[in-house]
Amino acid sequence: MLTTEEINTLDRDHVWHPYAAMPNAVPCFPVEKASGCEITLNDGRVLVDGMSSWWAAIHGYNHPILNAAASAQMEKMSHMMFGGLTHEPAVTLAQELARITPGSGDNKLDKIFYCDSGSVAVEVAMKMAIQYWFNKGISAKSKFLTIRGGYHGDTFEAMSVCDPVGGMHHLFSSTLPQQLFCNRPETKYHEEWDESDIQNFQQALNKQKDEIAAVILEPIVQGAGGMRFYSPHYLQRVRDLCDEHDVLLICDEIATGFGRTGTMFAVEHAENVVPDILCIGKALSGGFLSFAATITSPKIARVFEQGPAGVLMHGPTFMGNPLACAVSLASLQLLQSYDWKEKIKFIEKQLTTELEPCMDSPHVEDVRVLGAIGVVEMKEPMDLKMMQPRVVEEGVWLRPFGKLLYTMPPFIIQSHELRKITQAMVTLATRRRV
Ligand SMILES: *Cc1c(COP(=O)(O)O)cnc(C)c1O
Repeated sequence: MLTTEEINTLDRDHVWHPYAAMPNAVPCFPVEKASGCEITLNDGRVLVDGMSSWWAAIHGYNHPILNAAASAQMEKMSHMMFGGLTHEPAVTLAQELARITPGSGDNKLDKIFYCDSGSVAVEVAMKMAIQYWFNKGISAKSKFLTIRGGYHGDTFEAMSVCDPVGGMHHLFSSTLPQQLFCNRPETKYHEEWDESDIQNFQQALNKQKDEIAAVILEPIVQGAGGMRFYSPHYLQRVRDLCDEHDVLLICDEIATGFGRTGTMFAVEHAENVVPDILCIGKALSGGFLSFAATITSPKIARVFEQGPAGVLMHGPTFMGNPLACAVSLASLQLLQSYDWKEKIKFIEKQLTTELEPCMDSPHVEDVRVLGAIGVVEMKEPMDLKMMQPRVVEEGVWLRPFGKLLYTMPPFIIQSHELRKITQAMVTLATRRRV
């Protein structure tokens, strides 16, 4: 086994980390193993996990049920090409996804395209929308309208609909597709709806509907773009207006899907909002491995049976990976084997109570909680290089970014573990050296 020092040296010499310089300016902590909500570092320290590995590990780590599903599938085959072949894990997972996603009749989200990551699911959704209109003989509809403050992934088409400022568009402006942006919703989740909040969106849609293939947004929670929770009425109005203007609606639930916000999918916070295309990922496999899907309805899928653009032009090498499908099905069954809604309510309540003291700090701008997401927004951006070791000293794992100190713990977290996280957040937010 390598020493912590040896791992750090090799890491610095050869390994690139997310959004990082090479070598990494902020050193990483080597992890030896993880189980439940505990991450064990190579130096023996044990941290309570407040990140679920970026929204994904909803059942915690090393879960025996997910491990068993993976082992059983591995005994048969871990991968098989999906062109011309199919298998039980892919079809049973598809059946289960079709059962739990919203919609009915011609709008039922029951046509599933498997992808290998969230960004790819977004790429596929955007292709699907463009090809949909092309196949209907309307090739002018090829742009996307989105709200500022969004995040949809790091591949080019996905990046083109990320927030134009936070999404680093200026670096890639010569190659990035030019999309349409409108103001983000201002009405917060619990606030009374103000109809003027939709005006900017309505104007943009009205003006350019003939060029717009689809609206793409994260429903209710804008995640990596700022951790904001907005009014379900906004989403409702977006759905109505898309219908009125003959524009498709893509909902990116890669972060919010599978219970995180208190409902199975965040669109369920609004009444009768069914997107035309839904992207899922992250928690789909319970954080076991990279897996995602783009899901649409018979209404959209039908167009691909014939037409000038023909079939949907996408097919990843690892599409429908049997191991990922088997683990994802086990993860979905595990989620539904207990009263997860009650558990999320419990987490929400504890986060709300225990993060509230942060509001007393002069450094804190806002504290907000929705489902199993707790956010402390600071007035000034934090210095990650300084903050990250302090987080670890508190015995927890959190990854602050910009002004945001936030947690989205595994759903299985116990009350005393969550308290450790909230206490660390209160300490870090209130005793912050500026
Ligand atoms: C993480 C995320 C993505 C990208 O998923 P990857 O698996 O990292 O490619 C897209 N959309 C949203 C809302 C996300 O949170």
